[in-house]
Amino acid sequence: MLLIGGGIMSATLGVYLSELEPTWTFEVFERLDKVAEESSNGWNNAGTGHSALCELNYTPMDDKGQVQITKAIEINENFQISRQFWSHQVRKGVLGNPREFINSTPHMNLVFGKENRDFMHKRVAALKASPLFAGMELTTDPAKITEWIPLMMEGRKPDDMVTATRSPLGTDVNLGAITRQFYKISARLWAARSRPGTRSARSRATRMAPGACRRSTTRTVPRSRRSMRATSLSVQVAQHCRCCN
Ligand SMILES: Cc1cc2nc3c(=O)[nH]c(=O)nc-3n(C[C@H](O)[C@H](O)[C@H](O)COP(=O)(O)OP(=O)(O)OC[C@H]3O[C@@H](n4cnc5c(N)ncnc54)[C@H](O)[C@@H]3O)c2cc1C
Repeated sequence: MLLIGGGIMSATLGVYLSELEPTWTFEVFERLDKVAEESSNGWNNAGTGHSALCELNYTPMDDKGQVQITKAIEINENFQISRQFWSHQVRKGVLGNPREFINSTPHMNLVFGKENRDFMHKRVAALKASPLFAGMELTTDPAKITEWIPLMMEGRKPDDMVTATRSPLGTDVNLGAITRQFYKISARLWAARSRPGTRSARSRATRMAPGACRRSTTRTVPRSRRSMRATSLSVQVAQHCRCCN
């Protein structure tokens, strides 16, 4: 199995498939010299465990002014499955202490004006129908909001119409930490599975890349880059594609 890109998606797919197909071999191609350096890096995303507690786009209002929660339920359920998967990996010893990658933190919204206040009232009322959103609170009291999120209220005028919601079920997730831990263990396992004499990961990558990119194959890759390897991983290669590099 060839995985392109060393982010959370390849890491998760690799760990998942590796469990379902214990005889398969895996190679990961990452163009940078470390995994989890792009979107999955903890500094490059907001780190909310997406569960539709605060992401308003998952609860659109329909033509009749009703807030729809179908998508929010789907997203929340998916996130619970991710948590089960991570729990399973902690029990197996693939992931370490959960505090290294997932921690409780309330998820909140702050909106302004009457229209948005009305929407939030409807949203919270609709979400309360599902136990997945239990405990969600709404307040229009500036003092209460200041207690919840003091920084957001600093310098606001007393007559600003503000509304906030707060869910105690939110999480902060470090996708980068999960990615690194997945690869740390999996790379050893996958390396042990590979047999000597099979075609090298690098040659497979360079065979694949020109077709994928539909560009000329005549450009060559500097030797230093061709031989680059993520040493701590046995996950192969910083060089991924000779026509794009
Ligand atoms: C600003 C921002 C905020 C976000 N906030 C949240 C949030 O709060 N909650 C949440 O759940 N999600 C959030 N996300 C989304 C989340 O970060 C991404 O969905 C997730 O990290 C994507 O993982 P990935 O493995 O697909 O991509 P990446 O982590 O970007 O990994 C892709 C990897 O592929 C490599 N690569 C690319 N092309 C090639 C190639 N041709 N050959 C070899 N390697 C290649 C890259 O170098 C990179 O390492 C946010 C994203 C952004 C950008």
